[in-house]
Formats: sequence, structure tokens, C-alpha cells
Amino acid sequence: MQNIIITMAWLVLGLSAVSIAADDARPNIQGHSNFNSTLWVQSSAEYQANTLALYNAARHGLKSVLSDKTRTAALEQYGDYSQLPPAIILDVDETVLDNSPYQARQIRTNTAFSLTSWDHWVSLREARAVPGAVEFINYAAGLGVEIIYVTNRQCLVRKGGQGLCPQKNDTVDNLRAVGITSVTPENVFLKNERKSWTSEKKSRRVHVAKHYRIAMLVGDDLGDFVADVKRNTSPPERAVKIRSNQERWGVVWFMLPNPTYGSWMNSLQKPPSSYLRSYEY
Ligand SMILES: [Mg+2]
Repeated sequence: MQNIIITMAWLVLGLSAVSIAADDARPNIQGHSNFNSTLWVQSSAEYQANTLALYNAARHGLKSVLSDKTRTAALEQYGDYSQLPPAIILDVDETVLDNSPYQARQIRTNTAFSLTSWDHWVSLREARAVPGAVEFINYAAGLGVEIIYVTNRQCLVRKGGQGLCPQKNDTVDNLRAVGITSVTPENVFLKNERKSWTSEKKSRRVHVAKHYRIAMLVGDDLGDFVADVKRNTSPPERAVKIRSNQERWGVVWFMLPNPTYGSWMNSLQKPPSSYLRSYEY
């Protein structure tokens, strides 16, 4: 009897291995431009080590940053902010929530990003947490720091009602589901929630800076830290922005790795292959 069960198990495993192999052999799977990067995010220990290291560093430096009231992380913050309560601004996607299943679905179905399919994924509220994010956020909230989410998830009316911005509740519920108990709708700022809140996040940082001393910024895109870098800024110009803020990285600015998408791709002004640096042979 036991032998029969073992044989059946091997048959099932064998068949699923064959079907996975067949799946991988399809040209639109391994040949998809996002295959390796999505696989790295979903399966590598190295990705997890990166995000954990980053959030550990943010946690270890937080008390020091909070104690220096002359300090702000935001380039948009001016004047006397020393008496304002402290806040941390975090991006949501690929910073706190891991949407790699959405990327994986695009690869498997050989489809491109679309607002319709993205909005469906957002409505499912199934994203898991980026490793280390929940622990950091709960630690900071426990110290009395206001946690504010500035996301380019956008308000879109859905068929069937649910108000002007169902994406807000989706995002709050998803953040709660991964273990962030402190999140409130008032602290989640979506794109288009106000007329001036475009995908350029500067106006939302300016808004937060009126009420809080911005102690840290956490994101996965240069636009989560610096204005005017989403488009029409070449890779060398973006590199200058990184180096000119060198003292902020790892101290008050924390950048998560995201090889799957972002303004780094939108800023390529020539065919992507022309940016490959090779050598003569
Ligand atoms: Mg993001």
C-alpha cells in the first residue's frame, strides 16, 4: 500500500515537473523581459537579505534621527520645523507591499501593464509584505512617529460603485492584512486624491512637511525622494542626483531594490540595449 502511495506521489510530482518544464519552455516565459528580475524578487534569498538589511539599518538609525530636531529628510521642507511632530513617509508598492504576483501574471499571460488589470490586483488586497517593512513600521509607530504612505496607486471609479476612491480602502486593508495595525485612511495619500497630487510626489511631500518634520523617506524609486526625475532625465543626470545627496542614503533616505519596473526604465531615452556597456573582443 505504502509503495503504491509513493509511486502515485512520484507520478504527480513528475507530471507537475513536466508541466513546469513545458511552461518554462514557452518563449514568452523565460524570454519575457521581466522574467529574471521577477524571479529574483520572488525566489532569491539575496532579495530578502537586501530588504531586511535596509529596514534593519533604518530601525537602528531611527532614534538618532528623531533626537536631532534640526534634521529633515525632505528637500521640500523649509523654515522652523523643529517643533513639528516627526513623520516617516513611505511609498507603498515594492516598498511595503510586494506586487510581484502581478508581474508574474504579466509574464505568464504575456500581457503588459494596464490600469484595468492593475486595479483588479489592487482590489484583491492580496499583496504580501516586503521583508522587514512591517517590523520597521510597527517599531517606528511604537515610538510615536506618524507613518504616512505616499503612493502612486490612483483613485479610479470602478464599475459597480464603491465611491470615488475604492483603491484607498483596498490599500489600507491590504496594509492591515500584512500586520500594520497603525494604518489609517487619513495617512494614505493616493495619486489623484487631490487635483495637485499627480504622479510627481513633490506636492504630497510639501503637504506632509506643513504638519510634520519628515524624519525619513523610504521608497523604491528615485521619485520617492527627489522631484522631476520621473521622465526626461537621463541615467547620467539621475546618477548626479544620487551622488549629490550622498550623505542622505542609508541615514534618512532608504531605497529598496526594484529591478522589475520604475522611473529608471521610463528615463531611458534611447533603445534600452544601447545602454548596455560591453567590451571589444
Ligand atoms: Mg514603489
